[in-house]
Amino acid sequence: MDKTNYFMYINGEFVSAEHGESMLVYNPATEKVIAEVPSATPSDVNRAVQAATLAQAAWAKTPAIERAQFLKQIANNLRAQPDDLAHIVTEEQGKTLSLARDEVLLTADYIEYMAEWARRYEGEIIQSDRRNENLFIFKQPVGVVAGILPWNFPLFLMARKMAPALVTGNAVVIKPSEDAPINSLEFAKIVDQVGVPKGIFNVVTGDGPVTGAALASHPQVGLVSFTGSYEAGSSVMKMAAKNIARVSLELGGKAPAIVMKDANLDLAVDSIVKSRIINTGQACNCAERIYVHQSIEEEFTRNLVRRMEQIRFGDPLQESGLDMGPLINKEAVQSIDEKVQDAVHKGAKVLTGGHPAVQMMGCHYEPTVLVDVTQDMPIMRQEIFGPVLPVMKFETFDEVIALANDCEYGLTSSIYTKNLDIAMRACNELKFGETYINRENFETIQGFHAGWRRSGIGGDDGKHGLEEFLQTHIVYLMYDGTAN
Ligand code: NAD
Repeated sequence: MDKTNYFMYINGEFVSAEHGESMLVYNPATEKVIAEVPSATPSDVNRAVQAATLAQAAWAKTPAIERAQFLKQIANNLRAQPDDLAHIVTEEQGKTLSLARDEVLLTADYIEYMAEWARRYEGEIIQSDRRNENLFIFKQPVGVVAGILPWNFPLFLMARKMAPALVTGNAVVIKPSEDAPINSLEFAKIVDQVGVPKGIFNVVTGDGPVTGAALASHPQVGLVSFTGSYEAGSSVMKMAAKNIARVSLELGGKAPAIVMKDANLDLAVDSIVKSRIINTGQACNCAERIYVHQSIEEEFTRNLVRRMEQIRFGDPLQESGLDMGPLINKEAVQSIDEKVQDAVHKGAKVLTGGHPAVQMMGCHYEPTVLVDVTQDMPIMRQEIFGPVLPVMKFETFDEVIALANDCEYGLTSSIYTKNLDIAMRACNELKFGETYINRENFETIQGFHAGWRRSGIGGDDGKHGLEEFLQTHIVYLMYDGTAN
């Protein structure tokens, strides 16, 4: 197939980069080039931020319910034709077509959900210490929001930034991942069709160190809403610090899944496998390290291996009924393999998988289960974005809580038990932003997705997520009090 040339979306126009620079986009299932997108220079980024700044003043004065109408139209357009966009997400990112379709529909739900906040978000009136005075806290937009995205759920994560930003009266400049930028540019076409005023929604494409850095460090950006790795998030925070811009960082995870001896084993195995193979293990909330009670370890791992061996993977545009597509690129395959081989070298045993699927075209890793791992191995400590499950046994609840919490990341966690006392202790003692009890890891749009420690600062979704896009303005209003 020939590659398609795309343009960025700045100030309501589809444009090339300043000097025509561009970058290539690949299909990870075939490793073939599918598209060429502009590589935005700092001056292109500046153009987008200037346009956003200019447009935002009028947008903030537009009633929230009118802003929300645009969002609702975008959601309707997505729902009316989810398949074309799903195909693009699959082609550039590699997830199965059914998951890509779910992502498009979830994106529509998310945008609609955020639109519904238009009549609901509120300021406050506070009691004054003085006679004839009122204190008002207004909730006002931060101005221009920079949304920097990863590639794993590219369309949904873009909506997670643009929808709350727009409904609260901000303008946004999106910088999608260099690995999956096309869906944002296709989305820009929908934004354009529904007539969102020019400059309110912009997309600049390019790499992290140039385009992303120019956006994160721009002095007119009021909030940098970043989703990605701890390493890039930490640099973005430093850049934003220069301008004392706000940051909301949604970073990596290393989610423990704890299986107690009273757990429903079928449920635990099923949920853990689902939580690991979704998007080929490339989700921040994936179950990444399993702690199972020693009394049930044998039965649990036997069932787990059986399920992992049933996982079907391949090229999602060529085969139907797959559980997984490819990983995002060859570097990802290599990085996973290094951690698996390191664990084996240090004494871990592979029960299934354990290698790149070299016999296949594209970037695939075999669904893998390892036992005899130890807490100090990188495989139990560093984020692994792939279908790999290391399993470690434990004896007591105190011990497993300590093992679970012994982690630089603090995004999600899960536990399988029927014991209320254990479940309540887990709620109170697991040091993570999110805990799933007796279910797979996946957050809802009305919740609050926020990591502890190196998993981030701030958060997304629900009313708390919306607040990230607002700043307070307190007004002390005195009046004479003599009118009659
Ligand atoms: P990444 O950090 O490599 O890239 C993310 C984005 O940051 C890209 O757009 C990239 O171009 C940009 N970037 C990179 N360096 C930059 C710099 N110096 N300045 C400005 N921008 C820069 O991450 P990735 O590989 O795309 O995504 C995977 C990571 O994202 C994983 O760690 C995953 O856990 C995390 N993630 C977190 C969540 C969450 O909600 N917590 C959700 C999805 C993904």
